[in-house]
Amino acid sequence: MIPLRSDISLIVDGLHRLNTRPLSVMEVCGTHTVSIFRSGIRSLLPPDLRLVSGPGCPVCVTDQGEIDAALSLVERGAIVATYGDMLKVPCDRGSLASKRSEGYDVAIVTSAMDVAALAEKHPDREVVFLAVGFETTSPATAALVKEAEQRGLSNLSVLSLHKRTPPVLAVLAGDPGLKISGFLLPGHVCVILGHEPFSFLPRDCGLPSVIAGFEGEQILLGLAEILRQYSRGESSLASVYGRAVRPEGNEKARTLLDEVFVSRSAPWRGIGVIPDSGYALAERYGVFDAERRFSLTIEPGKSLPGCRCGDVLTGKITPPDCPLFRMACTPLSPVGPCMVSSEGTCGAYFRFYKGDS
Ligand code: SF4
Repeated sequence: MIPLRSDISLIVDGLHRLNTRPLSVMEVCGTHTVSIFRSGIRSLLPPDLRLVSGPGCPVCVTDQGEIDAALSLVERGAIVATYGDMLKVPCDRGSLASKRSEGYDVAIVTSAMDVAALAEKHPDREVVFLAVGFETTSPATAALVKEAEQRGLSNLSVLSLHKRTPPVLAVLAGDPGLKISGFLLPGHVCVILGHEPFSFLPRDCGLPSVIAGFEGEQILLGLAEILRQYSRGESSLASVYGRAVRPEGNEKARTLLDEVFVSRSAPWRGIGVIPDSGYALAERYGVFDAERRFSLTIEPGKSLPGCRCGDVLTGKITPPDCPLFRMACTPLSPVGPCMVSSEGTCGAYFRFYKGDS
């Protein structure tokens, strides 16, 4: 539980005073979801304020078809390098972990730049970086592509599965079935993008939206700001994370993204294909694009039987509503990707949910 210092007591009092009708606020980011559990925030909230978890875990939203494409690369003899969590993400014909146990080359990296060293170490092999994540990790992939060009690493390519946050929020905000009342926006994405890309949420959708950091106090402050706006009939984009997020974002990182990537349609697991919601390598860097090099086509994959990740990622259900939760689906044996990552909603509920929050 977060310590009940006087300032936090004041914020909590304010939340109870301001919450006069049922509201559902989506915390977009998996880091927020975990922090909400860790700090015990739900137990402090007024009964009419509901928190729903959103699609902000890159592992969770990686589509079955994208995993299938990665499996086909290892089957064709490439060394596929990616972040550790991606190994267990399943599609209907296995995972990178299962391919690795069959003897295929799958390497775990902790940073995109590790892939350059791997490509240098194996000059006679094709080395593909399976690049996932939102605007927080895509600048590192962009830097890798430029590094590969500079060092003449012709055996390195990138399978870009990067996703863009604003387009998926536009889809969720526009879904009348979800009844989202406001968004707690992901602080680290906003460090890169700044405020403007999210300004459509209050302006066009009438939804109070607040950029917040990841400590319990930040989350409570963000919720209080959303309720304050509701109580006054306002909707605006606000930030309680000014110490890390500048309104203009990180210009250097955004310039890098604009140079190396172009936006394109991308499949989101359980949600579907969303226009402009992914990053592909720009024509100028096409030689490093694994899709072109291997003539790959990524088709949206089929749902895994019984898995309701799509409903979890859009806040339609919480993980305990899935019949497989804690039964067939556990972190040791995940049926769907939301159970794989520590920041996946199902993984977070598995570790923290006691049936009382
Ligand atoms: S509990 Fe498992 S099967 Fe159910 S939605 Fe979550 S990841 Fe999918």
